[in-house]
Amino acid sequence: MKTDPPPAKPQAARPQRRGKEATVLGLAVSPGIAIGTVFDTTEAPAETPRRAIAPEEVEAEKQRLAAAVAASRKQVAKLKARLAVLPEEAQEELEPLLDAYALMLGESRLLRGARKRIAEELTCAEAAVEDEAEAIAAAILAAKDDDKSGLKRRAAEVREIARRLTRNLTARPFRSLKDIPQGSILVAEELTPADAALLDPSRIAGVATEEGGPDGHTAIMLRALGIPAVVAAHGLTEAAEPGDEAVVDGDSGRIVLRPGAAALAAARAGLAAHAKERARLAKLRRLPAVTTDGEEVELQSNLEIPAELPLIAQAGAQGIGLLRTEFLFMNREDLPDEDAQYEAYAEIVAALDGDPVTIRVLDWGGEKDMEALAEGLAPVHAGPNPALGLRGLRLLLKRPELLEAQFAAILRVAALGPVRILLPLVTVPEEVKQAREVFDRVIRRLRRRGVALPEKPPPLGAMIETPGAALAADAIALEADFFSIGTNDLAMYTLAVDRSEAEVAHLYDPLHPAVLRLVQFATEAALRLRMPVSLCGEMAGNPRLVPLLLGLGLRSFSMNASAIPRVKQAVRALKIDDCARFARRVMEQSDPKRIRELVDGFAEGALERG
Ligand code: PEP
Ligand code: MG
Repeated sequence: MKTDPPPAKPQAARPQRRGKEATVLGLAVSPGIAIGTVFDTTEAPAETPRRAIAPEEVEAEKQRLAAAVAASRKQVAKLKARLAVLPEEAQEELEPLLDAYALMLGESRLLRGARKRIAEELTCAEAAVEDEAEAIAAAILAAKDDDKSGLKRRAAEVREIARRLTRNLTARPFRSLKDIPQGSILVAEELTPADAALLDPSRIAGVATEEGGPDGHTAIMLRALGIPAVVAAHGLTEAAEPGDEAVVDGDSGRIVLRPGAAALAAARAGLAAHAKERARLAKLRRLPAVTTDGEEVELQSNLEIPAELPLIAQAGAQGIGLLRTEFLFMNREDLPDEDAQYEAYAEIVAALDGDPVTIRVLDWGGEKDMEALAEGLAPVHAGPNPALGLRGLRLLLKRPELLEAQFAAILRVAALGPVRILLPLVTVPEEVKQAREVFDRVIRRLRRRGVALPEKPPPLGAMIETPGAALAADAIALEADFFSIGTNDLAMYTLAVDRSEAEVAHLYDPLHPAVLRLVQFATEAALRLRMPVSLCGEMAGNPRLVPLLLGLGLRSFSMNASAIPRVKQAVRALKIDDCARFARRVMEQSDPKRIRELVDGFAEGALERG
């Protein structure tokens, strides 16, 4: 990890003749090198769902189709907007194709035919689209025309747009990610956090996508799983062919397709260097995270999915500082009830064997879109701007039955080991107060039920991840038992930059003085009240930022497990007084670029030479 400037706009791919080596640049979001075979996920699910519908469902089905058409139009428009950054040659090839797609998503024969099939054949939208596309493709191929390859191309275009519609209709991962061959490099237009949660790190060598931002949840999940990854690689899906050999360099953001001998040799050398570094860092596992002047620092792990548990044990984490419970709600069509949640949390608490676990209640919303919540079981209207709408704790307070079930499950688990509860996206103290009322109600109910609970209920903490919460931290501190500073959202909301959006990734900068001042303000508010405070955003996992964060007064961090050894190494090389002096210097600066220079300069002096 590094403190590189916010990633510069990635350069365009230079599509080359098939078979030739080609390099595509993107944002490096998960370190490591992968050599493998391209597995392209931008294909339709293996089987289109087929379902007969009742006459009264026709309207709803047509509306589903209309929503999928709207989503597809948006995607095609986005691809078209990107054309400008591609070389002219690629623009010439792609522009007519995208225009053809846009046309088919207008008042086309495909859509008219699909709507007719829904109404007359009483079939679901997916089947109607596929059948109509197949009928059109067959008619095109049967046409009398000498330009056979032209006919084939047009038929393929119809099928392709039907596949896009089906993908948007099913809202499922573009392809089952379970059957990916061992050693694959997953290539996709976009990978959602829900898709990433399905990845098996033992099968996937690396990931490369056209979309995505540096601290989006997909990037976080890939880092947590230790899968080398590059996102925002514009031109990638056009340049890559399924079956191509590829190198994904999660350190530099470079993807080499069909690498030649020199590129392969460099990648192999990189792999060997990483393995050596891992072996060296593994030796730190049992050593304490203590500064040279004896200040103890707590290093905990974040956890996105239970598959990370073995990594947490290997990393020598002192517990889990942020258990994101969203994984339980993803990739399913119903909601997990109290018992199902209890089982899942109990397994994690048992695996931690007495180390503390901070469980964050559901943080739905924004990019973390979940079918079960979105589709009917607990209808949620996120509004036109989901990041500013009903997400996090706001949603839970609106749907207290969700919060009650989750509190009940966590309270039961608290009998098995030390547990804390964290509330996401708090903006006003009143929200914590209301959450505590629900919490107390659930405790009383469980006691009436005769459930064994710890004598002292688990602490209830607040995430500080909006500028409002940071600036009102002293007031929120009166209601909360501890703080966890979430710098991913804090940077997003402070700078008005979507953390998972490739187009604005160059503006996303947690080292912006505005973000640092908010971190400082919230930290000092907690320290004044002697309230525990930790930092669990992605900043915590960057060893170069350790001097600054220690200097601001923080002594507890939670990060992806694989970052712990390097952060521990940094802690063990530092003296608190030096860090405090350094932080004072940084906080006098107003230019993010200067801050980065200072941070890098200090790291090179104190961490890397030492
Ligand atoms: C954060 O916003 O910094 C955070 C830790 O929460 P999440 O990344 O899950 O939004
Ligand atoms: Mg957050």
